[in-house]
Amino acid sequence: MPPFPDVHPPVCPPLPLLTGQKALVTGASSGIGKAVALELGRAGADVCVNYSSKEEPALEVVRELEAMGRTAFAFKADVAQESEVLAMFAAVRDRFGDLDILVNNAGLQQDAPLDEMTTAQWQKVIDVNLTGQFLCAREAVKEFKRHGVRPKLSCAAGKIICMSSVHEVIPWAGHVNYAASKGGVMLLMKSIAQEVAPHRIRVNSIAPGAIQTPINKAAWDTPEHYNALLKLIPYKRIGEPEEVGRLAAFLASDYADYVHGTTVFIDGGMTLYPGFETGG
Ligand code: NAD
Repeated sequence: MPPFPDVHPPVCPPLPLLTGQKALVTGASSGIGKAVALELGRAGADVCVNYSSKEEPALEVVRELEAMGRTAFAFKADVAQESEVLAMFAAVRDRFGDLDILVNNAGLQQDAPLDEMTTAQWQKVIDVNLTGQFLCAREAVKEFKRHGVRPKLSCAAGKIICMSSVHEVIPWAGHVNYAASKGGVMLLMKSIAQEVAPHRIRVNSIAPGAIQTPINKAAWDTPEHYNALLKLIPYKRIGEPEEVGRLAAFLASDYADYVHGTTVFIDGGMTLYPGFETGG
C-alpha cells in the first residue's frame, strides 16, 4: 500500500470554457467517454452522446447533461462502420447545425498472447480503435472546414481530441492489437494535425495511464490486483475518469489554442519507467 492515504482530487469548479459549442463524444455511455461528455457539458457544451450497445446508460448521460441546462441526445453508431458514422454526423447536423468538438473516445480490448490471437481479435481492435477514429475525424474535418472559424465561439474552426493510451509508446505483451492500434492513433493524430492546421483545426491526443473504468476492471477489482497495479504508477494511485474529462475540456477550449499535434499523458507517471524508481 502507498505510504499515505489514497487521496483523490476534489471535483474542481467548472469554467464556462465551451459555452455554445457543440460536441460529439464517441463511446460516451461509460467510463472515460461518459466523464468527458459530462465535463464538456459542465464547461458549457451541448453534447451528442454516441453509444454502440445499450441505450439506457447513454440516456442517463443525456439526462445528466440536460439537468445542467445543456442540449444533448444519444445516437447509436458503431464507429467502425462507415455508414453508421455518416448517419451519426448527419444527425449532429440536423440537431445541432454545427459541430465544434469531436472526442474520438470509443475503444476496446481483445487480449490474447500473440500465438493465440485470432485474426478476428486483431481486426476488431484495429477497426474500432483506429479505423473508427479515422472515420469520425474525417467527417468532423469536413464539418469544421464547412463553417470555418467563428470568432465569437472559438479561436479554432474545430477541435479533435483522440483518446490514445500510454500504450502509444509503451509496448504491451499480450495486447499487440491494442498497442498497435494506439501507436497508429499517435501518427494518425499527428498527420491529421499537420494537414489541417492551416484551416485552424486543432488536433491532439490524450494518453491515459490506468483509469478506473470497466475496460480494466481486472487490474483494480481486488486489493491484490490494485497493489500490483500501483507498482507501475509512481504517483501511487489509479486515475479517475473525471480527471481525463477535465483535461479534455481544457484541450477543447481556447486556453489550449496553441496546443496542437501533441499527446498529453495523464498517467501518474506511468511513462517514467517506474522500474527505475529505486535507482535501477
Ligand atoms: P469503457 O469500456 O468504459 O469505454 C469504451 C466505450 O467505447 C464503451 O462505452 C463502449 O461501448 C464504446 N465502444 C466500444 N466499441 C465501440 C464501437 N464500435 N462504436 C462505438 N462505441 C464503442 O472503457 P474506457 O476505459 O472508458 O475507455 C475509453 C477509451 O479510453 C478507450 O479508447 C480506451 O482505449 C482508452 N483508455 C482507457 C484507459 C483506462 O485505463 N481505462 C487507459 C488508456 C486508454
